[in-house]
Amino acid sequence: MFEALNERLTGVFDRITGRGALSEKDVAEAMREVRVALLEADVALPVVKDFIAFATERATGEEVIRSVKPADQVVKIVYDGLIEMLGGEEPVGINLNATPPAVILMAGLQGSGKTTTSAKLALRLTKFDRKKVMMASLDTRRPAAMEQLETLGKQIEVTTLPIVKGESAVQITKRALQSAKLQGFDVLILDTAGRITLDEALMAEVAEVAAVAKPVETLLVADSLTGQDAVRTARAFHERLPLTGLVLTRADGDGRGGAMLSMRAVTGLPIKYLGAGEKVDALDVFDARRVAGRILGQGDIVALVEKASQELDASKAEAMARKLAKGQFDLNDLAAQLQQMKKMGGLQGIMGMLPGVAKMKAQMAEANVDDRMIARQEAIISSMTKAERKKPDLLNASRKKRIAAGAGVEVQEINRLLKQHRQMADMVKSLSRGGPKKMQQMAAMLGG
Ligand code: GDP
Repeated sequence: MFEALNERLTGVFDRITGRGALSEKDVAEAMREVRVALLEADVALPVVKDFIAFATERATGEEVIRSVKPADQVVKIVYDGLIEMLGGEEPVGINLNATPPAVILMAGLQGSGKTTTSAKLALRLTKFDRKKVMMASLDTRRPAAMEQLETLGKQIEVTTLPIVKGESAVQITKRALQSAKLQGFDVLILDTAGRITLDEALMAEVAEVAAVAKPVETLLVADSLTGQDAVRTARAFHERLPLTGLVLTRADGDGRGGAMLSMRAVTGLPIKYLGAGEKVDALDVFDARRVAGRILGQGDIVALVEKASQELDASKAEAMARKLAKGQFDLNDLAAQLQQMKKMGGLQGIMGMLPGVAKMKAQMAEANVDDRMIARQEAIISSMTKAERKKPDLLNASRKKRIAAGAGVEVQEINRLLKQHRQMADMVKSLSRGGPKKMQQMAAMLGG
């Protein structure tokens, strides 16, 4: 997501950076280009207008034009403006302040990802917040939807309310409330019925359920790939239902990003989570700073480091840090790093979080670097003996030939891998003089 927008904005900023001093005219022209970029990303027009007015006013101020690096100031103003547009710096957490069970009502159109998101949220609350969570499906018209939630519940080991045929949505709601209360659940997630399109019957039913369940959170799940349709849907739901927040799904898709950028300003509702994949753990707390950073190509280093440390077992990371501190990095370490890359969603997953992605992606495509290459590199390393992995210098021509045959690759590829390893080992060596903190960061990135 945001790839095209990122590319355009990077272009705008590159041009003004090259110019040194900025005139009011330069700023105005840059803002015109930012405006076009946002409109092309499918951001709602009124949102774009407000943004440009705000940014232009600040960017043409004396202190910007006369500052040492005016272009940097303009980037910062756009960054701040994006954060504002997305709802401010601090992530808005979920509210569970209620006499248990705290009810979370999930609303949205069919296919928006509502059921999947219910399960993702249940998993998150169970795993990170140590809550006892129950889920219940209120989709009386689609038995398959109920079974889907039940299956997901089994998969993530979260209780679902037993299915009883023939009950109405309100009856199920009452049974779920009672059951969750009696069994001491902290949270009850209600997955309401969806329809292909907005209709009165759907709205009336969700409103009735809400009146009975008195949710502390009513979250609208919307598909970010549907662009302005998602924004319209959110507005329509909000008119009938006091929503407390939004979840945008398919943030992992290659949408233009307009829905995400317009949602907050148009509906006034905070975006609380982003769905970032089909798997049950692919739900991210929405953080405007990260999104703004990604749009401007500052990348998402925070997310990358966090993700790495989440996946890492602390003792392994420490062992790795100790080795790195001594300036050591052998082929076993490289293999561990390849493993880590795979865990983090492969190259595609990692690249989305790195700065200057658009440029790098093109370069990598040219160099034919992809996830299959990671697999081949792993095959090469696993075809080596223990001694070879520890001391790559042992690898003479005949050993390389043997390994190439074992891994089913050309000798050339082994040479490429060795070169890559040498560069990394050199980097590790030079970094090992950078102190323990640097090394820990490095260890988290490389994986243990
Ligand atoms: P519902 O009809 O609104 O309950 O939608 P589902 O939860 O059944 O989701 C519909 C499809 O979208 C399923 O195949 C999900 O795996 C998929 N899906 C849901 N959320 C995401 C997401 O954040 N990213 C991606 N890529 N797929 C998603």
